[in-house]
Amino acid sequence: MMRRDVFERFIHHALDVYDPLLANLQARHLAVVDPKRSSLAPLLSQYRTRKSYLLSGPALHIFVVSLRCHHTCNYCQVSRQQTSATAFDVDGDSARLAVDRLFEWPSRELTIEFQGGEPLLNFGQVRAITERIVARNAFENRALRFVLASTLHDLTDAQLAFLQEHRFKLSTSLDGPEWLHNANRPRPERDSYRRTVEGMARGRKALGDDAVSALTTLTKRSLEAPEVIIDEYRKLGLHSISLRPLSPYGFAAKTRERNGYGTAAFLAFYGRALEHLIAVNRSGYGMDETFASLLLSQLLGPFGHGYVDLRSPTGAGFGAVIYDYDGLVYPSDEARMLAAMGDASFSLGHVGQPVSEWLASPAMERLMAAGVAESLPTCSDCAYVPMCGADPIEHYARQGDTIGHRPTSDFCRRQMGTFDLLLQRYETASTADRRVLEGWAFGAGTTHSAEDELDAAA
Ligand code: SF4
Repeated sequence: MMRRDVFERFIHHALDVYDPLLANLQARHLAVVDPKRSSLAPLLSQYRTRKSYLLSGPALHIFVVSLRCHHTCNYCQVSRQQTSATAFDVDGDSARLAVDRLFEWPSRELTIEFQGGEPLLNFGQVRAITERIVARNAFENRALRFVLASTLHDLTDAQLAFLQEHRFKLSTSLDGPEWLHNANRPRPERDSYRRTVEGMARGRKALGDDAVSALTTLTKRSLEAPEVIIDEYRKLGLHSISLRPLSPYGFAAKTRERNGYGTAAFLAFYGRALEHLIAVNRSGYGMDETFASLLLSQLLGPFGHGYVDLRSPTGAGFGAVIYDYDGLVYPSDEARMLAAMGDASFSLGHVGQPVSEWLASPAMERLMAAGVAESLPTCSDCAYVPMCGADPIEHYARQGDTIGHRPTSDFCRRQMGTFDLLLQRYETASTADRRVLEGWAFGAGTTHSAEDELDAAA
């Protein structure tokens, strides 16, 4: 960290040309003393490294195989349907066409995530799509990774054997201890927690401990209990937690009054959670918070991340594609949720159309026009812009405009608040606490990649 008086001398060109600090700043490409002898090449190389995710096109492909679900969560992000409503399952033709489209994208690495509703309620299509992808890949030769985002209730042995055969990762929702999870995720039998924990245990036994991850959705009630939520994850032997704020989409938007809270309340919760997590790590149990790990990796390291919600240019359509149950295609899960709420302005098209037509759609044009954070008002002058994202769909959903207004944007407040919090904590940390935070940034002591878990949560 640079002292304020030294910083003032630096920006007023008052540092001596032989000052070692100036040499240090030059080495970090923060200052140029002699333009004739400076080269932008190292800086450009750094920039290219950070944005390398742009070179290969979308790697995250989400298949929504059913909107049916046996839960009635009051913060649900999608338009869930009754378990008997099979009209909301993907049909064979749409599934086949979606797989054809998948291989039109150039990425050598493809993550295929099955989502719902509850994808286990249409496991026949999970199986059919996976088998079709694997068969086609015999000559496509891409690196494949399969993820199932599920409550993990009612997993059968036959399903587990199939998931094991294709080395699936499982991503589930666990909001905290039983009283909190069951209050957030009601089922008539009030047994959601028990079923999820049982499903996780069966998944870990069959697929390995690091194949199962969980994330929270935070309601107003959750904000009172950061320590309790983290301790529950520890009790279950999990080494990673995602503390995810409520979404502004879907049913969550309708029940916001009851469940919702402001960004200041979230940041206060997050600060408390961070302290507790650091203490848990100091006690010898390694556990990270995935979003903190992702941001710290950006603050402390040179490499870019693949997390689609924090990319510039935006990850919507450039990093991820969603194939909905009815054959419609979206650039992000948020765009799909907006469509479920009656606004389909970000639909890219149908699985029957080639990818080139999706890329030329008005939706992609709007995303491109508002999707580069470096060119947006306020972001263009922000110190965090190299590590932050644009997220035009979130701004459209919350502010009615894809560019949005950062001084009043919840997205920006959350980003800036979290960056500030992490930087301040890092700067004032003891050596032991720094080691914990650096471990999160560079992946030591955790079994999951922050980016993977966050993408699976997208
Ligand atoms: S913190 Fe806010 S102003 Fe800064 S880059 Fe992110 S969204 Fe833009």
